[in-house]
Amino acid sequence: MTHTLEIKAISPVAHNVFSYDLERPDGFTFEPGQATEVSIDKDGWRDEKRPFTFTSLPDDDRLQFTIKSYPERGGVTDQLSHLLVGDRLIIDEPWGTISYRGKGVFIAGGAGLTPFLAILRAQNESGHLAGHTLLFANRRERDIILQDELDLMPGLITRHILSQEDKSGYDFGRIDRAYLEKVIEDFDQTFYICGPDQMVEDLKGILDDFGAKPEGLVFEE
Ligand SMILES: Cc1cc2nc3c(=O)[nH]c(=O)nc-3n(C[C@H](O)[C@H](O)[C@H](O)COP(=O)(O)OP(=O)(O)OC[C@H]3O[C@@H](n4cnc5c(N)ncnc54)[C@H](O)[C@@H]3O)c2cc1C
Repeated sequence: MTHTLEIKAISPVAHNVFSYDLERPDGFTFEPGQATEVSIDKDGWRDEKRPFTFTSLPDDDRLQFTIKSYPERGGVTDQLSHLLVGDRLIIDEPWGTISYRGKGVFIAGGAGLTPFLAILRAQNESGHLAGHTLLFANRRERDIILQDELDLMPGLITRHILSQEDKSGYDFGRIDRAYLEKVIEDFDQTFYICGPDQMVEDLKGILDDFGAKPEGLVFEE
């Protein structure tokens, strides 16, 4: 069943990423980490469905998506970046992507943060954030989604890794074997990975070598 929902608020959360708050249909529920198919309620765009992850909490009054736009592709995310409050999105039923399996290490690349944002917000709300680590990889500081919120989450250990900017307060380079050996003390815990195809594939292989069994989700081919 689809729902056509009005956009109630749009907020920039990085230079090319926006959060969209939507009205929430009565009785609509989802689990943190789940996604749904989204399209734009405009001529020519209704059948162009793309998967996006809920970043609101299941009990919030509104539904929220946090979406990185790729203007150069001229696709749905480019269109989304031009929408205004009052425009409408069409969403489908929620479906499972990454589900929470307990405390551990969340490794995100770019917009791959979104399922972890939902999960970490939920853990924060229930006061159970201690014991979670976030390794968040981006190219530059300005690409980091919601850095202030992440850095202020009580109990969460966040490390930002920048591949194209060497700045104090940030790790420089890529999340690779040497980096993980340096920052992870215990590989006998749950690892979650979400990001571009190559990153997820590489890190799964490395973590597998260390005896960990990561849960991975590819966001970008
Ligand atoms: C389960 C799941 C959940 C997701 N959740 C989120 C989320 O919460 N937030 C978020 O920001 N993203 C999320 N994504 C990623 C998101 O779905 C894509 O960014 C989105 O589908 C891109 O749609 P688009 O129409 O803008 O571009 P696309 O459909 O990717 O591309 C449009 C056109 O551009 C061309 N193109 C494709 N790739 C490239 C490229 N690399 N360079 C140049 N041209 C290209 C193709 O010809 C294509 O026809 C999720 C993905 C999955 C699988």
